Amino acid sequence: MTDTIIIGGGLAGLCAAVHLKKRGKQYLLLEASDRVGGRVKTDQKDGFLLDHGFQVLLTEYPEAKAMLDYEKLKLKEFDPGALILQANGSMDHIGDPLRQWNTLFRTVSADVGSLFDKLKILRLRNHLARRSMEEIFQQEEMTTAAYLQKFGFSPKIIKRFFSPFFGGIFLENNLSSSARMFEFVFKLFSKGDAAIPEKGMEQIPLQLAGQLDPASILCGQKVVQVDGSEVITDAGQSFQAKNIILATQATALPVPQRNNYKQKAQSVTNVYFSSPSLPFTKPLIALNPNTSQLVNNICVLDRISTAYAPQGQHLISVSVNGIHGSGGLTDIIKKELTTWFGPAVQDWQQLKTYCIPYALPDQSSVRDTLSPSELKLSEKLYICGDHLLQGSINAAMKSGRLVAEMLD
Ligand SMILES: Cc1cc2nc3c(=O)[nH]c(=O)nc-3n(C[C@H](O)[C@H](O)[C@H](O)COP(=O)(O)OP(=O)(O)OC[C@H]3O[C@@H](n4cnc5c(N)ncnc54)[C@H](O)[C@@H]3O)c2cc1C
Repeated sequence: MTDTIIIGGGLAGLCAAVHLKKRGKQYLLLEASDRVGGRVKTDQKDGFLLDHGFQVLLTEYPEAKAMLDYEKLKLKEFDPGALILQANGSMDHIGDPLRQWNTLFRTVSADVGSLFDKLKILRLRNHLARRSMEEIFQQEEMTTAAYLQKFGFSPKIIKRFFSPFFGGIFLENNLSSSARMFEFVFKLFSKGDAAIPEKGMEQIPLQLAGQLDPASILCGQKVVQVDGSEVITDAGQSFQAKNIILATQATALPVPQRNNYKQKAQSVTNVYFSSPSLPFTKPLIALNPNTSQLVNNICVLDRISTAYAPQGQHLISVSVNGIHGSGGLTDIIKKELTTWFGPAVQDWQQLKTYCIPYALPDQSSVRDTLSPSELKLSEKLYICGDHLLQGSINAAMKSGRLVAEMLD
């Protein structure tokens, strides 16, 4: 019998295992799928690296900074700011003048809001620079949309910048996610970079798994029942431990208490295209503020890390909030994007489409800390996972550490 069985090998389960190992505890991690990583995986296809949905690491995530070796991940950063796809077919480059001074002129003249709005962005940055994480997560819950209005931003900048930018992060177009999450993400964007590991997002869980004993990770083990100190898989195999940690997504918890946890989630559809020509050259994300269209954002991933595409080809990621599995999506995307990138879009080749029903747990209410009674369900049963805090790499990692720290 081992000390602890961890059910689920996403970032939360992996971090729990790493912290248990550091404390000299025995552990066995059971993962249902063919490999660890959970929602952070990368497929290889024809020389392209395809992350399971477009995602980024914010380099200032406190848990990631503590747990990951950024140099070994060879992080490749996006330029700060974004391209805004305007309805008339033009594109505005919104820079971050505090970090890239040469974008100041473009930012001041970009047609996304008034000069007053742009000054308010600087005020917001200063306000959040002084605010601690505790203050951010203790403030009263309200939607991001309500927060931005209260802060005095105009409807124009909310529609043309905040809605597509944070819509792409929250995976919903209404800015109904918590203002706590907005402040957290905005603060981290102001302090650090959005980045991807040179060889794909899956390098993050692989680096964590690399700190563990390979014999303590069993893949292809779907747990269907937890009974006291016994865990049973769908193949009928039984494992025993003094403690059991549930580290699956909320909707997959193999216990009757599942419905006590957030079942509502944000979904996303991510379509990858290859193209011999570039729609735009900058290592930036391009945002579509027109919410009556499907495309939320587009990015050329090999402009961030050349390893994402073979030589002579480019890898274009297009994200659409919600699930759009039915036929015709590729044609709609191409039609929409022709407005900005011309007839060359028709030659893009669709490589793969990822429909991800459970991408982020519902974020209308989020937090950054957990009490022992929230981590411990019964004498032997514990829980971690992003759904307990917020939908982020940081939250998943933190929940794994917190649960590992409280085990005997
Ligand atoms: C498209 C997309 C975009 C995102 N964008 C970002 C971003 O830009 N920045 C950011 O910080 N975060 C982002 N996230 C969120 C982030 O990826 C997640 O918050 C985090 O990976 C969740 O980790 P987790 O360990 O809590 O859960 P998961 O990764 O879901 O891990 C749960 C694991 O449990 C396993 N499992 C389930 N049931 C069983 C069972 N019965 N038995 C055994 N194993 C089981 C699963 O196979 C899985 O491996 C994004 C997520 C998606 C999908």
